[in-house]
Amino acid sequence: MQVQKNKVVGIDYKLTDGSGKLIDTSANHGPLYYIQGVGSLIPGLENALEGKKSGDILQVKIAAKDGYGERNDALCQQVPRSQFESNEGLEVGMQFEVDTEQGELVVTVTNIQEDTVTVDGNHPLAGVELHFDVTVKEVREATAEELAHGHVHGEHGHHH
Ligand code: ZN
Repeated sequence: MQVQKNKVVGIDYKLTDGSGKLIDTSANHGPLYYIQGVGSLIPGLENALEGKKSGDILQVKIAAKDGYGERNDALCQQVPRSQFESNEGLEVGMQFEVDTEQGELVVTVTNIQEDTVTVDGNHPLAGVELHFDVTVKEVREATAEELAHGHVHGEHGHHH
C-alpha cells in the first residue's frame, strides 16, 4: 500500500538542521503515526512521502520557508518586566501564550534583564533548514473514526 491521502502512515525519523545538529528523533519517543493529507505534517515532508511504501527510506531537505517559515524579527519584543504577573521563576526558555492582533501566539523568553524581558514569537524552528532521514514503517487504511477525528487512534495514537 502506498502513502496517499487519508492513509495512516507510521514513520521513524531523524531531524537535523543544516549543520547536522540533532533536533528530534523518533528513537526518543517511538515512531510517528499520522494521517496523510490532512495537514498534520509540514507540507514539504508530506509531499516527499506521497507514493512511498512500507520499508522505503528517504532523505528530505526542506528549506525554512517550506518548513516553519523564515524568522521574523518583528516578533521579537522587549516588554517591561512588570507586565509579568509573577516574576518569580521567570527563566530563559519559558513559553507563554499571548493574545496579539494576529491571534494567539506562543512566545519564548529569550533574555531577562533588570527591567525588561525579551520574548520571541517565532517558532523555535523558524529560519532552520530541516533535514529529515525517514523510514516508512507502516501504511494502512484509516478507520472512519480516525478520519472524522483527523488523528490516529490505537497504540501509536490518541487514546480516548
Ligand atoms: Zn480521536
